[in-house]
Amino acid sequence: MNKNSSRTKYCEICKIDYSTMYRIQFQPTKEWIFSCKNCLSIVKKDNKFYRYGGTWKK
Ligand SMILES: [Zn+2]
Repeated sequence: MNKNSSRTKYCEICKIDYSTMYRIQFQPTKEWIFSCKNCLSIVKKDNKFYRYGGTWKK
């Protein structure tokens, strides 16, 4: 579960490494994950679990 120990940030939805990531919650587990902009726009749609936690840049 401790994915923050990795120095490489990648989108946990599409598993691709991006230079700009968005810290979000989108599941009932309220787990913070990093998402790319594209996946963010998909998962936040009509999602009551969606929460934005900040932008992370390399
Ligand atoms: Zn993605």
